[in-house]
Amino acid sequence: MHQTEEQRRAYLEALGIDVWLPRDHADPDPGIAEVAPAQESPDWDALREAVAACTRCSLCESRTQTVFGVGSPDADWMIIGEAPGAEEDRRGEPFVGRAGKLLDEMLRAVGQGRDRAFVANILKCRPPNNRDPKAEESAACRGYLERQIELVNPRIILAVGRVAAQLLLDTDTPVGRLRGSLHHLGDIPLVVTYHPAYLLRSPSQKRKAWDDLCLAMRVANGAKA
Ligand code: URA
Repeated sequence: MHQTEEQRRAYLEALGIDVWLPRDHADPDPGIAEVAPAQESPDWDALREAVAACTRCSLCESRTQTVFGVGSPDADWMIIGEAPGAEEDRRGEPFVGRAGKLLDEMLRAVGQGRDRAFVANILKCRPPNNRDPKAEESAACRGYLERQIELVNPRIILAVGRVAAQLLLDTDTPVGRLRGSLHHLGDIPLVVTYHPAYLLRSPSQKRKAWDDLCLAMRVANGAKA
């Protein structure tokens, strides 16, 4: 369904963000007509099965289930977070807790709800007590994410939070310095933004996250950033 200006404003207000658009901003509703959902291919089925049965690291012993990712297999936007938390581990879907609801509102505000985007994590299994991923865990899981990126082949990757941004870009630069400019993963443009869990704790940063989404939107819509 097309998003109306009214709905978009409502989302932004819900995020506590004053409605503001850069002057060269493309239409936040790219006006794409409703299309039939893309079908997953045998490649996706094989990848899904491999992830579900994975024992490449010890997180397989404590998980309830793997969290593969959700969304459209031919999405323009790919959102990459850190790892499943308790709720995600229980439900088998990424970003379903409070932070996930905020992420959904942010994505809907730019016309990229989770049915249109593809949402995944660096890790497919929950680290106990929500600790940061260990190097060997993210290394073991990396191939799955790389294959997902290859299959989706998005126009833009949005890395949410420090862990995702630093692991994807192989850097220890803080998120505050990574956000605000365009990066690349191979030849796919990548924008960094704050993790929604951080935005829940620091709502004053939501305006910057909105700027990041506008940058991602301009890039996905084909503008030079
Ligand atoms: N935080 C993340 O980074 N990913 C999730 O799926 C949930 C919370």
